[in-house]
Amino acid sequence: MEIIKINGREYTIEEYNRYFYGRVRSVMDKYRVKGNIAVALSGGKDSAVMLHVLSKFDLNLCPFYINIGIPEYSKKCMEYAIKAASHYGYEIEIINLADYGIDINYAKKKCSVCGTVRRYLMNKFAFENECDYVATGHNLSDTVTFALNNMINVNTMNMRGAKPVMEGNKDIKMVARLKPLYWLRDDEIAIYAEINSISYCKDICPYAKHAPTLVIKEWIHELEKRMNGSMINLAKSFSKIEDMMDRTEPRTCDICGYPSYGRICKFCKLRREHEKIQRDSGKNKE
Ligand SMILES: [Zn+2]
Repeated sequence: MEIIKINGREYTIEEYNRYFYGRVRSVMDKYRVKGNIAVALSGGKDSAVMLHVLSKFDLNLCPFYINIGIPEYSKKCMEYAIKAASHYGYEIEIINLADYGIDINYAKKKCSVCGTVRRYLMNKFAFENECDYVATGHNLSDTVTFALNNMINVNTMNMRGAKPVMEGNKDIKMVARLKPLYWLRDDEIAIYAEINSISYCKDICPYAKHAPTLVIKEWIHELEKRMNGSMINLAKSFSKIEDMMDRTEPRTCDICGYPSYGRICKFCKLRREHEKIQRDSGKNKE
């Protein structure tokens, strides 16, 4: 019988799967998650595992993939996402960023632009398809890394989203966000993928290879090895900090009608910028 050893604990495969499923179920039970779920597939490990686990629940899943348009990388990830969806008998919806006139390859702050367009397009897809939630593969390692990175950059306003579920608001076309893998670390998810033979794209985004968040992630996993449970406790602390903070509620964007913290949302601003880039590059060709 194969034994899985992780951070000083031992499990049989069956025990490990039960532990893993229990972690996901704790999120689903606490927030009474049900109904139609838009499932964001990226082609990577976390979303592939998320789909595998969610398919065991009594839910109506609507998988989708956002094609950001990074040469080679996005196409390869898309192939994995399509394969993952069809494996469970789902149709997948492909959303192309290029259809909105935005080219990530021209953006200065690529990771930040990628985050903005993903959040926007996933919410739009979920809203248009009357989904109750949009589920992402964000895990415990991502949550803690994101919060620490904000603190390192003295960006305390950005602490929203430190919980497994972020409530939606139909009046402003905002769909609730769900992180089923919230209580699971990167290494735990990798083991689950391996023992359940879940295939996924192992490439790292060419634009994110030197991201400072990778350093933070490595560091918190070292910390976890020496101080078991510190990541879960950090996530709990960040969640409590979020509760204590004054919250600015979003309104709707004057152009597109989706949630925004200003008169015009970040996505519409990006569209304007990229229209200008394309006009200027057109002029240069003349
Ligand atoms: Zn807008």
